[in-house]
Amino acid sequence: MNHHKLIIIGSGPAGLTAALYAARAELKPLVIAGVTFGGQLMTTTEVENFPGFPDGRQGPELMQDMVKQAERFGAQMIYDDAIKVDFSAKGGSASGGKNQPFKVATGDKEFTADSVIIATGATYKWLGLPSETKYRGKGISACATCDGFFFKEKEIIVVGGGDAAMEEALYLTKFASKVVILNRTGKLRASKIMQDRVKANSKISIEYNKQVEEFLGGEKLTGGKIKDSVSGQADERKFDGAFIAIGHKPSSDIFRGQIELDEKGFVIPKDLTRTSVEGVFVAGDVQDHRYRQAVTAAGLGCMAALDAEKYLEMDHG
Ligand code: NDP
Repeated sequence: MNHHKLIIIGSGPAGLTAALYAARAELKPLVIAGVTFGGQLMTTTEVENFPGFPDGRQGPELMQDMVKQAERFGAQMIYDDAIKVDFSAKGGSASGGKNQPFKVATGDKEFTADSVIIATGATYKWLGLPSETKYRGKGISACATCDGFFFKEKEIIVVGGGDAAMEEALYLTKFASKVVILNRTGKLRASKIMQDRVKANSKISIEYNKQVEEFLGGEKLTGGKIKDSVSGQADERKFDGAFIAIGHKPSSDIFRGQIELDEKGFVIPKDLTRTSVEGVFVAGDVQDHRYRQAVTAAGLGCMAALDAEKYLEMDHG
């Protein structure tokens, strides 16, 4: 049976929470979880800010438990990537929907559904240096709220010049002894209010026209080679941590032309979880570039499942 009431695309906290709620509503959702399931928490070690775990939890364990919990109530998982969707059909569904059936294809299968929840998340942008990959989780991070705690009284650099970099830097001053923002041009992209907050914080300094050429260290990160793009000179300097805050890339390529995306590729939510196509809902980081927390993604996943349930009830009425 390749037809489902609800297909959920994505298996981070948003997708799996949607799966849990939809499964408990007896919608028997199909979760197209991706070849690498679990989303961004699969690459995190200790998760200390997901409520209910006073001693923290390893990210991959948390995600595996979310899968088990959704499966317990009847969610079906497929560990493959959705590579194509078609939300354009008009009528023709056995269940009498408006744009249904929606089509979702993986490499070798095609599924149809009366409703779809998009929960494909986003990925941090990285600088792309081999030494950056080497020290990820060993001094380099892209999430201050996840990892800032591990840098008490340490010296940190933040790479970037947008609001995210300002926010990361401000948050990190709770822990770090010193935070240096490295901006690649002579001008910050961040909003004035965020710049003002950063400039008023005595723990933070901003350096312009600076780019990381290489991260350095042994087992752990100990510093980097920083190039001044005006003078062309590169100097080695010591720091204990580096936070990369150069933007996010929503995982929305397969939805281009099917639903409304903003200029950066984020799905534009309407009335919280609806999209421009009736019956297609959205949850998590693929629509939310502001909060980007596992717990907020889970909350949106819950909301999308409840909205999909109501939609299906109406259609099937
Ligand atoms: P932005 O696209 O706004 O900024 C990205 C920054 O990273 C820019 O300074 C950019 O430099 C720099 N950058 C990009 N690539 C590289 C690179 N390879 N090397 C070095 N630097 C690089 O992304 P943000 O994530 O900061 O923000 C995304 C959106 O989310 C924005 O709309 C922002 O306003 C919003 N946001 C709002 C917050 C708030 O209001 N509290 C908090 C966080 C985000 P350059 O300018 O040279 O391109």
